[in-house]
Amino acid sequence: MVRTRFAPSPTGYLHIGGLRTALYAYLFAKKHGGKFILRIEDTDQTREVAGAVDVIITALEKAGMHYDEGPIVGGDYGPYIQSERKQIYLEYAKKLIDSGDAYYCFCTKERLAELHEHGATKYDKHCLKLSKSEIEERIARGEPYVIRQNIPESGTSTYHDEVFGDVTVDFKDLEDNILIKSDGMPTYNFANVIDDHLMGITHCIRGVEYLMSTPKYNLLYDALGWARPVYIHLQPIMRDSQHKLSKRDGDAGFEDFLNKGFLPHAIVNYIALLGWNPKDNNEKMSMDELIEKFSIEGLQKSSSIFDETKMRWLNSLYIKEMSAKDFHAAAMPYYQKYCPDKGVDYEYLSELLQTRVETLSDIKERAAFIDAFDNFDTELFINKKWKTDVAMAKDLIDDCLACTNAPELNVALESLAERKGLKKGQVLWIYRIALTGAAATPGGGEEMVKLFGKTEALRRLEKVKNILATL
Ligand code: GLU
Repeated sequence: MVRTRFAPSPTGYLHIGGLRTALYAYLFAKKHGGKFILRIEDTDQTREVAGAVDVIITALEKAGMHYDEGPIVGGDYGPYIQSERKQIYLEYAKKLIDSGDAYYCFCTKERLAELHEHGATKYDKHCLKLSKSEIEERIARGEPYVIRQNIPESGTSTYHDEVFGDVTVDFKDLEDNILIKSDGMPTYNFANVIDDHLMGITHCIRGVEYLMSTPKYNLLYDALGWARPVYIHLQPIMRDSQHKLSKRDGDAGFEDFLNKGFLPHAIVNYIALLGWNPKDNNEKMSMDELIEKFSIEGLQKSSSIFDETKMRWLNSLYIKEMSAKDFHAAAMPYYQKYCPDKGVDYEYLSELLQTRVETLSDIKERAAFIDAFDNFDTELFINKKWKTDVAMAKDLIDDCLACTNAPELNVALESLAERKGLKKGQVLWIYRIALTGAAATPGGGEEMVKLFGKTEALRRLEKVKNILATL
């Protein structure tokens, strides 16, 4: 049974890189009929953010990744929050001390600082030499201590990563990391091993920043007599070829993109492709299709650059296929924010905009034409392509009013063009400008009359008639 996990630290923010790690772990588990587990890595209590676990759970829900085991839903391997597992780690740390794979360390901050000042790049195993009785005495005295991993001083270690191939590390490049901190909490370096084993994790999918420290974790697996999981390390998502997409960029969080008007699944679909190649040309995929097509072999060894333009394009495809009702419901908050109480038929506005926006927040710009009439600019009647001008508008404005009252507006405008010996496009241009005062609108005159209503359309045309009369 495949078991994967997503193990975020509760920082109050879910970076889309993290969401992608979760996604790959989810897709892999689901593809193999396995389980996807959520584990909260909150052992760094100085970084605690209130409500941060909810942020993660809500994000996974919105993204459509249902975790099988984890906080709230529970499961047979809980608790799934590391701070609630403190005793478990201590128990295994003691086992490692007994086997000589870990040791108590009483070194003070000052001593460690001094060590580094004298050029040491890693801890010098100073406390490894302490006798059992001295250790017991110092603990009994209440001296603060940490527990460190005892890493061999020489030799190498090789393991296989599914993306990066064989990875070899020289033990002399590794430090005797702290496993248990002085507050009794484990470090990531320890807890990830204990939990991945105890939670039965078969495939460990995580960021490439752990690629080179994995040999340390393997020593712990070996010391405890446990089988290692399959390792799958992932390259980060980049802003450009040099820089990771970071929180500092202001829009690297899942929520940031939702707030920018992206649909959750469009984001999920797009990030799935950032680091994984489906090996066919079909890039738009539902969650079920992603599950079906996902494979470890398709994961890329090179990092990928985030391209918001492409995500916008994918988003627009998802927007177009929403039902009119769903799009309208999704658009409503944007109308409320950017163009409330304009007296237009908002449902019809949604119909006009659905095919014209790439993200929901494009509504702001796309609906701005509604207000254009208030600052009517007669220069807009001048159009080079159609060869129209203000005089032509002046000449046509009475007819525009009459056409608006005609039973079929477009037919009336067409026969007006014929009567006047003009091109239909010329008349349509004049009409639409007179009605809206906007160079670009989602739809032509007929749509605009429908949107504003006939009474408002006539009021506007009267007003333009008056403006033109003063020229
Ligand atoms: N808490 C770790 C992080 O957020 C998880 C790494 C892992 O998946 O093992 O980077």
